[in-house]
Amino acid sequence: MKTNYIFVTGGVVSSLGKGITTASLAAVLESRGLNVTIMKLDPYINVDSGTISPIQHGEVFVTKDGAETDLDLGHYERFIHTKMTRLNNLTTGCVYSEVLRKERSGYYLGATIQVIPHITNEIKERIISCGSKHDIILVEIGGTVGDIESLPFLEAIRQMSSDIGRSRTLYLHLTLVPYISVAGEVKTKPTQRSVKELLSIGIQPDILICRSDHVIPKNECAKISLFCNLTENAVFTLKDVDSIYKIPFLLKKQKLDDYICNRFNIISNEADLSEWERVIYEDSSSKGKVNIGIIGKYVKLPDAYKSIIEALKHGGLKNRLKINIELIDSQNIESRGVDLLSGLNGILVPGGFGERGIKGKILTVKYARENNIPYLGICLGMQLALIEFAINVAHIKDANSTEFKQNCEYPIIALITEWCDEKGNLEVRSKNSDLGGTMRVGSQSCNLIKDSLAFNIYGKETIIERHRHRYEVNNLLIDRIEKAGIKISGRSVDNKLIEIIEIPNHPWFIACQFHPEFTSTPIEGHPLFTGFINAANRCNN
Ligand code: GLN
Repeated sequence: MKTNYIFVTGGVVSSLGKGITTASLAAVLESRGLNVTIMKLDPYINVDSGTISPIQHGEVFVTKDGAETDLDLGHYERFIHTKMTRLNNLTTGCVYSEVLRKERSGYYLGATIQVIPHITNEIKERIISCGSKHDIILVEIGGTVGDIESLPFLEAIRQMSSDIGRSRTLYLHLTLVPYISVAGEVKTKPTQRSVKELLSIGIQPDILICRSDHVIPKNECAKISLFCNLTENAVFTLKDVDSIYKIPFLLKKQKLDDYICNRFNIISNEADLSEWERVIYEDSSSKGKVNIGIIGKYVKLPDAYKSIIEALKHGGLKNRLKINIELIDSQNIESRGVDLLSGLNGILVPGGFGERGIKGKILTVKYARENNIPYLGICLGMQLALIEFAINVAHIKDANSTEFKQNCEYPIIALITEWCDEKGNLEVRSKNSDLGGTMRVGSQSCNLIKDSLAFNIYGKETIIERHRHRYEVNNLLIDRIEKAGIKISGRSVDNKLIEIIEIPNHPWFIACQFHPEFTSTPIEGHPLFTGFINAANRCNN
């Protein structure tokens, strides 16, 4: 089958749940036996989201091939089986840097480089190469129609319908239909305006999905269809729901997938949402509740911990437990003490960069360790668990990471270049950090030792997990900490890097250098999160 393209734009306001809606639609199409992928076009000028603070756009999601991407790619992987790669996220910065690179190399043979056609051609080529092996690619355009910065993307997708053919391209527009309580009715005018805006750049939407917190009556849908040049059966509605896992059902119920398959002339099975039925069942049949604290420094914006929050909920689904998540600012632990942690059944210290809030996180690890509260440390949360153990159990006073104290006496965490030579031989190196040192990013294998909690949890010896960090556990200094009671439960396949640790005489204390949250899905969960929630519940009773 030749690739079919669904372009998803958003109008009226941002935060309509465009990513979740796109992912849910993709899930329904995939459940018909189609090979589906999703691409995100981001209008910002950053080459990727790796350098953006998580409190601006939320977490940086890492793909298996090591791309640092928009958090929407996390939604995509949680909803469909196709795995995302660096092809699936394209930013304005990425497009421009490639066009400029080509210009410098003489690729354009003397042409004047312009937004149209050079920038738009680059965008179109990227979309085509991302979708080439799939029956359907959904392309989500970030931002809201009318934004200056997304214009080149909209122009590129407009051109694609004549390049590829109208029958294989479809424009889906997501808008808001607000309820005005003083009038006691929903209003369609913003949707009409938004479609006009799209029309002014040459795009006639084929499908509208109208988001609302109220039921949109049939006559209002008819009005939208009349004013926006669509047949009535092309206007779909999506009312707020208590669980995002219900969205695929709402779309299927309105036969959106049938409409799309007819439009593309695709003959396929009926959507089979049984996997999602099980998720809904697990969600609605919970037997209790656990309180989990995430102690971090980007707590102002919960999206900064999006995948972790979702993975905890998945752990809840697999244990039939509701998860109550408290986001706690680690600096508040520094100023107000560990009492803030009382009442938590499980404690999670997530990844992070820089020194702010580190003291509070170390106090948190100590509290979890001494009070036998289940602890899951992720990346920085593992590095700090080792530092805490080194200081308070092994009595190594100046144990630290060179990220926070360049010349500490006992750099148990350091850049690999600070303790390992170019050939990989272990030796003490100069303490001059190279801050431009490369990040270890993307999927890597890790071997677990059989006699460990980690092995019991995963049920296999070799695991593949995603990384995103610069610093590593310093192998030269680990002996004393191991002797004091830390267990190394997994190392990289070359045996050099420490990937996962645990404390044997604690009810459940695991910390890993990688990010398990990126591979957790509502359908499968993730062993570490399932185990963590199980332990939090056990220790609660
Ligand atoms: N700042 C630490 C490092 O670079 C941890 C990174 C993280 O938690 N993702 O190694």
